[in-house]
Amino acid sequence: MPRFQTLEQALKYYFGYDKFRPGQEQIIESALQNRDLLVIMPTGGGKSLCFQLPALMKPGVMIVVSPLISLMQDQVDSLRDNGIGATFINSSISLPEIRNREENILAGKIKLLYVAPEKLLSDKFLGFLDMIAANIGVSAFAVDEAHCVSHWGHDFRPEYRQMIQLRRRYPGIPLLALTATATKRVQVDIVEQLGLKKPMIHIASFNRTNLYYEIVPKERRSYEQLLNYIRKEKGAGIIYCTSRKTVDEIATSLQNDRISALPYHAGMSDEERSKNQTRFIRDDVQIMVATVAFGMGINKPDVRFVVHYDLPRNLEGYYQESGRAGRDGEAAKCTLFFSFGDLKKIEHFIDQKPDDNERLIARQQLRKVVDYAEGNECRRTIVLRYFGEVYEGNCGLCDNCCNPQPQEDWTVDAQKFLSCVARCHEKFGVTHLIDVLRGSKNKKIEQYGHHSLSTYGIGKDRTPEQWKLLARSLVHQGLVDESHDGYRILKLNQKSWEVLRKQRSVFIAVPRKAAEPVSEDTNIMMAETELLFDRLRRLRKSLADEVGVPPYVVFHDSTLKLMAQIRPKNLQEFGNISGVGQSKIQKYGAIFVAEIGNFCQEYDLPQAITQESPKVLSNTYALTLQYYQQGLVIEEIALRRNLTISTIYTHLARLISTGESIDLDKLVLPAKQMLVLKVIKQTDDINLVNLKEILGDGFSYDEIKLVVAWWKKQSSCPKK
Ligand code: ADP
Ligand code: MG
Ligand code: ZN
Repeated sequence: MPRFQTLEQALKYYFGYDKFRPGQEQIIESALQNRDLLVIMPTGGGKSLCFQLPALMKPGVMIVVSPLISLMQDQVDSLRDNGIGATFINSSISLPEIRNREENILAGKIKLLYVAPEKLLSDKFLGFLDMIAANIGVSAFAVDEAHCVSHWGHDFRPEYRQMIQLRRRYPGIPLLALTATATKRVQVDIVEQLGLKKPMIHIASFNRTNLYYEIVPKERRSYEQLLNYIRKEKGAGIIYCTSRKTVDEIATSLQNDRISALPYHAGMSDEERSKNQTRFIRDDVQIMVATVAFGMGINKPDVRFVVHYDLPRNLEGYYQESGRAGRDGEAAKCTLFFSFGDLKKIEHFIDQKPDDNERLIARQQLRKVVDYAEGNECRRTIVLRYFGEVYEGNCGLCDNCCNPQPQEDWTVDAQKFLSCVARCHEKFGVTHLIDVLRGSKNKKIEQYGHHSLSTYGIGKDRTPEQWKLLARSLVHQGLVDESHDGYRILKLNQKSWEVLRKQRSVFIAVPRKAAEPVSEDTNIMMAETELLFDRLRRLRKSLADEVGVPPYVVFHDSTLKLMAQIRPKNLQEFGNISGVGQSKIQKYGAIFVAEIGNFCQEYDLPQAITQESPKVLSNTYALTLQYYQQGLVIEEIALRRNLTISTIYTHLARLISTGESIDLDKLVLPAKQMLVLKVIKQTDDINLVNLKEILGDGFSYDEIKLVVAWWKKQSSCPKK
């Protein structure tokens, strides 16, 4: 293990990042002191690093408990791409493969081992754990998504309850629990259920400083509204809807409108869901239309916007879901479509609940959502207040701060409205009152004799929508009372009378058109930077597809953006970019620097090419090619170059695809080549993982990789 002077150096070396996110450094220090820890950070706050870095800096293996297979896979992929020894064991792995992984662990090649809780607590695995503890050592247990241990959370998992056994069996090994749950009750539960001993509790701020929050009044033609919204956005987005039916409808409509979108909800088969999820994560599709069933397993860092098409039922849920935007720290947008119609629907639904207490809680929770949506304050102030934080406002990155709602004096209208409430003897709800004010010919009006009231027809100058807005606002400001019996009858109160007596004016915040966020760093890029960024994204996608990982495993958007801005001309400059660690320089440095070089030439941009840089660019491939031409076998080349065999295959694949003369027949049996080509043609797919799945164990990834490269080359040049 290399020695580091500071934690920051270690961070840069392994993960490529320049700076810690708020809280990370202190947490890591406590972890290194072998304390039990409870880490509470918002979604996207950077919790994983809080156990990953200590795992690398301590002797032994860190055991990471994670509730979902997709989460394990994702984290392990990312770690491995950073050259870090990580693996997972769960029910999806075959027995021989498990044995193989166990051997690697006992051989000391693994620093992080991810397991599902039920696996962890099986007798067999506990036996294996004893062996690790005795031979290699266990540096700590990290329990991710620790709220799953609590009944009070939203993802309770019985298996998590058994985890106390770990504490009993290994009393001396520290336990780290991590969650994004904000409620006290769950926090207390975690400490008790996991048996944490005098834990250091780190509660990070829930403020996500890169997210733009906005409320958009949901229009009647809400689908068109959504479509226009999406057409203006770039990058991946999630559209949350309440019902499965809406999810299906919206996804289909978007597809018809040529937006690449897929649905996700609990009514679909597991297979279909995981297929759609993978396509979203790998950037094969831009938009995921989903119910809240879509979420926890998603670590995709480059989601650029999250839209709530329907009103959420509680603010904590909303914050978690919208928090899936912009985990990479880049600008991202959280938009909530708000309509009174939706609100009514939910209220109606709540009113059907038979249990009094449940109904009360549901109403209170919904109230918080409405306070958030209708408030004129900084959105951050409102939502952080809900989490018990004081935020003084003026964030400059929410609709209320960037584009305050104009306040209009509607005192006269309010007087008309309230006097109508009085004339109708405080026995009616908003709809009826508006009918009276607008002089409706509705039968009901005549029945009650309301067509002869003095307020009948005095409000034709305002639309029903405007009257509704006024009514809502009056209720909201406490200028009129509303009954809670489900009929929502309006009644005058002290303040209503003050308005009627002209002792009080009424101001209404009128909705304005959605504005664009005005943050300084919001994707304002120079044209050429944007072009290069696109180009690097494509390169990233093809590299990621070659090995079957999500593109963000290779590099985050934020890192590509820096590359596009800085245009590094050699590996050293490349390595200085945030997000480029030691292993990424080796793996991708040459390819990316070359691509950037080509781009600069094409567009005649300065890259201040130094003498040695062209050599650096092609060095790694040229060297492999040279050895290959000297007749060395791949194992020898790998040995001499101190690279893995698989890396050499990747080099050869690149060399093949760039047209170097490499005899494929010597590397892959011709009969096997034919079979691979047949599958490529049949499935029209060159994703290695998919191909491997069809071709089976008789074919290695390396072989498939080479044939794919050859095929790509063939299909890109005209036949002679
Ligand atoms: P959480 O588990 O808290 O929701 P993650 O651990 O998944 O968040 O981290 C979110 C994203 O932030 C990841 O893509 C991770 O690579 C990135 N990240 C974490 N720490 C840093 C850092 N110090 N600098 C830059 N990016 C970071
Ligand atoms: Mg996490
Ligand atoms: Zn604000």
